Amino acid sequence: MVKFVILGAGMTGLSTAYHLKKNYFLAEKTKNVGGLAGSIEIKGYLFDYAEHFLRIPNKYLEDLFKKLMGDNIFSQELVSAIYFKKKYIPYPFQENIRELPPIELEKYEKSLKSNLKSGDQRKQEFESFEDFIYYQYGGYIANEFMIPYNEKIWSIKPNEMNASWFLSSNFIPVSNIGKKNKQASPTVNERSKKKHIRWYPVKGGSQEFGKSFTPFLNHLVLNHEAIRVDVEKKEVFFKNGFSINYEDLISTIPLPELLNIINNLPSEIRSLIPKLKYNSVYCINFCLNRKLEHKYHWLYFPQKDIPFSRLFFSSNFSKNNAPTGKGSCSAIMTYLPDSKINLERFEEETIQILLELGLLKNETEIVDRIPINIKYGFTLPTIGIENHLKKIMEFLSNNNIYSIGRYGEWKYSGIEHAIEDGRNIATRLSRGISN
Ligand SMILES: Cc1cc2nc3c(=O)[nH]c(=O)nc-3n(C[C@H](O)[C@H](O)[C@H](O)COP(=O)(O)OP(=O)(O)OC[C@H]3O[C@@H](n4cnc5c(N)ncnc54)[C@H](O)[C@@H]3O)c2cc1C
Repeated sequence: MVKFVILGAGMTGLSTAYHLKKNYFLAEKTKNVGGLAGSIEIKGYLFDYAEHFLRIPNKYLEDLFKKLMGDNIFSQELVSAIYFKKKYIPYPFQENIRELPPIELEKYEKSLKSNLKSGDQRKQEFESFEDFIYYQYGGYIANEFMIPYNEKIWSIKPNEMNASWFLSSNFIPVSNIGKKNKQASPTVNERSKKKHIRWYPVKGGSQEFGKSFTPFLNHLVLNHEAIRVDVEKKEVFFKNGFSINYEDLISTIPLPELLNIINNLPSEIRSLIPKLKYNSVYCINFCLNRKLEHKYHWLYFPQKDIPFSRLFFSSNFSKNNAPTGKGSCSAIMTYLPDSKINLERFEEETIQILLELGLLKNETEIVDRIPINIKYGFTLPTIGIENHLKKIMEFLSNNNIYSIGRYGEWKYSGIEHAIEDGRNIATRLSRGISN
């Protein structure tokens, strides 16, 4: 018997164990720590499981990562842009409208001004994400960028998504519509001064974030896949035959997978599993035989006729992510698990577009292709999901099970939140506050 059993040694599970310090047993299914923030290396080219930059929003996290990683972490300004009307508009689009061609700028200002009709009364509630987008950005940005881009990345329409997932976060830069005396023009004329700083390991790719915790952990086991949880006996069973009793179970594994391994799950809770929708991410990574000629970390593509939603350039994250004098380029697309996707066609169309954009000069520059498929990519914030999650979490916590993290809570979040989620649950449970 141990006080706390933690399932999953991704960033959330690692942070939980680190902050609990003692009385825990941390079990990971695979042979590696770090979960989705992992990396693979082939012939000197290093790719993360899709790009993984770290945001550090507070001093606690900065001190923590400096302590954990020492010299193997550095910060840099994010260089990213949106490909729009055959131009690269610096990210975030909303702050860099001045870069638009004059005719487009005129359309944008008109749309923004017509949208200001709501005056200073700031709307608090939105029927859907689409409702929010139109309110916040006006028809021009909504129709030309926000709606098509979000439809591509989430794989469902913004009118099928709730608005609360982003209102509680600061992921999407918002303009100042509705604020007193705010006009469209300052956004247009002023150059954005805000710097978007991101952190990354000097060597080894994003997997180093997770690995850096391991010297501080005493009770971590790898190759332990939980396959059954007996809530009455408070016991977890693993595929390798091992089992362990707990007082509190902290799960960071995807919520549907946790629910599926719980013995005698009440039918009311079981019926909610299909409501937990998600999309998957397919990522094709190209190893190039030459250096990149630009500094972009990533580029967004809202266009319907371009198959990828984002390109990213791992060799620009750190020069150690490719052999000396070489570079890399990756494209991601998202898809619903039950949709039929033609991966070969995706890769061929991607190469054609890279050639058209001049990001590839010749197909022979590609010396290797490394595909990465991520089953749980984005959890989908469908309308009504909050009520389903509330019922599930109530059932779990009544049984001393705490499901946390991006896939445990079924939310949109990054590494910085994973660290906070682990820290928060460790503080709560070690103080004996379980509600
Ligand atoms: C395309 C994409 C790009 C992203 N880019 C960024 C970025 O740039 N910056 C950023 O901060 N965040 C980014 N994120 C988000 C980030 O990856 C996650 O927030 C974070 O890694 C989640 O960590 P976690 O520990 O909660 O979950 P996971 O990383 O999923 O960890 C869960 C762990 O549980 C293990 N597990 C699963 N089942 C079992 C079982 N039955 N028994 C035992 N163990 C099990 C898994 O192997 C895994 O190690 C991105 C996400 C995606 C999809």
